[in-house]
Amino acid sequence: MSSDSSLPIAMGFVGLGAMGKPMATNLAKALPAGAHLYVHDIVAAAVNELHALFPTIVVKCGSAREVAQNAEVVLTMLPEGAHVKSVYLNPSTGIIAALDQTSTKLLIDSSTIDTATNLHIRSQLATHSPGTSFYDAPVSGGVLGAERATVAFFVGASPSDPTLPRLTSLLQPMGSKTIPCGGASLGLAAKLSNNYLSGLITIATSEAMDMGMRAGIRADVLASVFKAGTAQNTICDVFNPVPGVCAAAPSSHGYVGGFRVQLMRKDIGLAVAMARHVGARNVLGAAGLGVYAAASEAEDCRDRDSRVVYRYLGGKEDW
Ligand code: NAD
Repeated sequence: MSSDSSLPIAMGFVGLGAMGKPMATNLAKALPAGAHLYVHDIVAAAVNELHALFPTIVVKCGSAREVAQNAEVVLTMLPEGAHVKSVYLNPSTGIIAALDQTSTKLLIDSSTIDTATNLHIRSQLATHSPGTSFYDAPVSGGVLGAERATVAFFVGASPSDPTLPRLTSLLQPMGSKTIPCGGASLGLAAKLSNNYLSGLITIATSEAMDMGMRAGIRADVLASVFKAGTAQNTICDVFNPVPGVCAAAPSSHGYVGGFRVQLMRKDIGLAVAMARHVGARNVLGAAGLGVYAAASEAEDCRDRDSRVVYRYLGGKEDW
């Protein structure tokens, strides 16, 4: 990837896990000559690894506050709302400790968390530092998308937000698409709605594959029927939960890689809570959440790709 001179010369990244590390790597590759990427993670090994890859670009920081003291733009990629809250709002180690009334930093959180925590952080930052901007920009595309710089960003901004062109060019080294979802926290609302749908389609596809196979239809024939019919969907066509139907899918490799079943449980839990909060009636949410919660605890499913629910439901794998 060639460097991009429109990027700021001081950027920051907090949270160098499965998603954050490859995203920060792609960002580091795109920074212009002389620029620095200030990084922090509570796991020192993650910081050291990135520093070893880009010793003249990556600067190791001991806290999120230190990252924000040095960087004009800070991205965060953390597991859950509690982590995001602490990284932004901890009065001694958090980003807020680096801000004052005159700061004009741009802060972007790409974690998948609840909208209430996002709005709380936004209002605390706005009170403490009115010139600082804070956006939710969760991603879709998984670890492979993060590595290939093809994740889609669902941004909590209106299409007419004057900061949107800047956000789009900042995120471009890490992702192929930036979709403004309408306003603050709506990137998260979009992401949770998407994962709710995708997670439930996975369960429905697993059940339909299992019943058709038990009735005597070959798995590949059944998948081609769904593909040609009104049941057509990406889970069936690309990530089929039945091993051996899609050669590249995690199901065909012991359900290794992909999107961890515990993350799907977390996202469906957040989506069901959001539905309750906004007064949306859903009949499938509780059942779906129960399936992902139980699969997350099952020895032969835990830590595997979420499409492992087919195994959890007792589907035949060596057809
Ligand atoms: P991860 O657990 O692999 O990485 C999170 C990183 O944050 C870890 O390195 C951890 O040490 C660090 N961290 C935690 N608390 C911290 C703190 N207080 N200060 C600094 N660092 C801290 O998680 P991930 O898979 O990279 O996912 C991150 C977010 O992206 C989650 O919200 C997840 O739901 C979302 N997401 C994940 C995927 C995926 O396929 N893994 C896809 C889309 C979205």
